[in-house]
Amino acid sequence: MANLTALRDHNTAAVLGAIRGAGETSQVELAAATGLTAQAISKIVKRLAEEGLVTRAGQALPTGGKPRTLLRLVPQARWAVGAHLHRSGVTALLVDLDGRVAGSAALAIGPDITPDHILDRLAELVDGLLAGVERERVLGVGLACPGPLDQRAGVLHRVTGRPGWAGAALGPELGARLGLPVALDKNTTAGVLSQPGSPDRAFVYLDDGLGAGLVLGGRVQRGARTNAGEFGHQVLDPRGPRCACGNLGCLEALCLAALDAGAPDRAADLLGEGIANLVRLLDLDEVVLGGRAVLAAPELYRTRITALLGERLPDPDWQQVAVSVAGAGRQAVALGAAGLVLGPLFGTGEALSPAPAPPVAGADM
Ligand SMILES: [Zn+2]
Repeated sequence: MANLTALRDHNTAAVLGAIRGAGETSQVELAAATGLTAQAISKIVKRLAEEGLVTRAGQALPTGGKPRTLLRLVPQARWAVGAHLHRSGVTALLVDLDGRVAGSAALAIGPDITPDHILDRLAELVDGLLAGVERERVLGVGLACPGPLDQRAGVLHRVTGRPGWAGAALGPELGARLGLPVALDKNTTAGVLSQPGSPDRAFVYLDDGLGAGLVLGGRVQRGARTNAGEFGHQVLDPRGPRCACGNLGCLEALCLAALDAGAPDRAADLLGEGIANLVRLLDLDEVVLGGRAVLAAPELYRTRITALLGERLPDPDWQQVAVSVAGAGRQAVALGAAGLVLGPLFGTGEALSPAPAPPVAGADM
């Protein structure tokens, strides 16, 4: 792990981030982009080249100047795993430094599985995915889970519908089993990181639960207890059906009831009402939809929610909100989870939206 620690200083991360962002760049351009001195850049680039993270990409011939050596990232110099634990299974992806998916694995879990058993299965799944990858080249595992949870401690709280998971310290315990850093976060936070987008956007996830991940002002929002995003538990009808959280008439309960009744159009309209509330509260300009319910009828959700926003927002021409469906489909949350691990390497704060990755055949579940 010594190598990884050495790579994680602020200036090195800034240089790596600038190289990744530019694709190909020279030391002169890196100095301009980062504000570091030519000498500092030269030292950092030398170390990154020794570590195998950066290589020469050829020469640029600026008019009137001397040729400059171009540098680029070596995407497969390091790896991250993104894993998505949902109520009925796990999807895990092996992702390179560009956010491209190089491998995937999945498993199903039953409703009564204990946290200990989940940890055993997760560790096996990740070990299998990492077979053939040198452990020193693995940055860590991002683990996305349903909330509520404590992201800083890596501990699940009372996950709706899975009371047996309360208090499970999945983050630290998986880390101990694998001997790798593990970053635990909400499925919705991982989802919002699964593709680059507007600095003011939400990822709305309708699957076996409903939640929203938020990026505002370009930063992921987690709230005081890192539990922001319980979007599905806004009460829309206090006389409505009982929600798994215990309250009556939560948006999640209403949407799931509509889906159970075979009325996805009704679920889409209800979801649209909740999203209109969210847009009015936060002034978002992009909403990305994900989760199995949405992916079963993506156009239906996109068009009905877009139409509903047009009706609900007082000035829709001014408050234009782009509504789309997650490009990575069912892999979105796992892909975003890998971004939790990649982010610090590139100096993007806590997390990073990977480059859009092509879908991998047979990888969704
Ligand atoms: Zn609820």
